[in-house]
Amino acid sequence: MPEKDPTLMARCLECDSRIYFERKPDLGEIIVCPECETSLEVVRTAPIKFGWPDESSLGAGPVPRVDLDEFFSNLDDEDAGGGFDYEEDDGRY
Ligand SMILES: [Zn+2]
Repeated sequence: MPEKDPTLMARCLECDSRIYFERKPDLGEIIVCPECETSLEVVRTAPIKFGWPDESSLGAGPVPRVDLDEFFSNLDDEDAGGGFDYEEDDGRY
């Protein structure tokens, strides 16, 4: 096993824990801290440095985003539709 390469390490901006890469990351790559699950963008690769990702680039990237307003309005719609009677819905077969 090779030693961990210190040039492939950067610190999380949020919790300051060390994040190691197996290979050199791409500039602009979004990684997620394993400790605090903060999304970080690689803004420099030698040495590796993180920045805060833009909201707009996050939306277009591989990180799934949940629109909370839409999520809660969908929940409201289900409630208005008469509750949770799925198990007693006989006569449908
Ligand atoms: Zn972190």
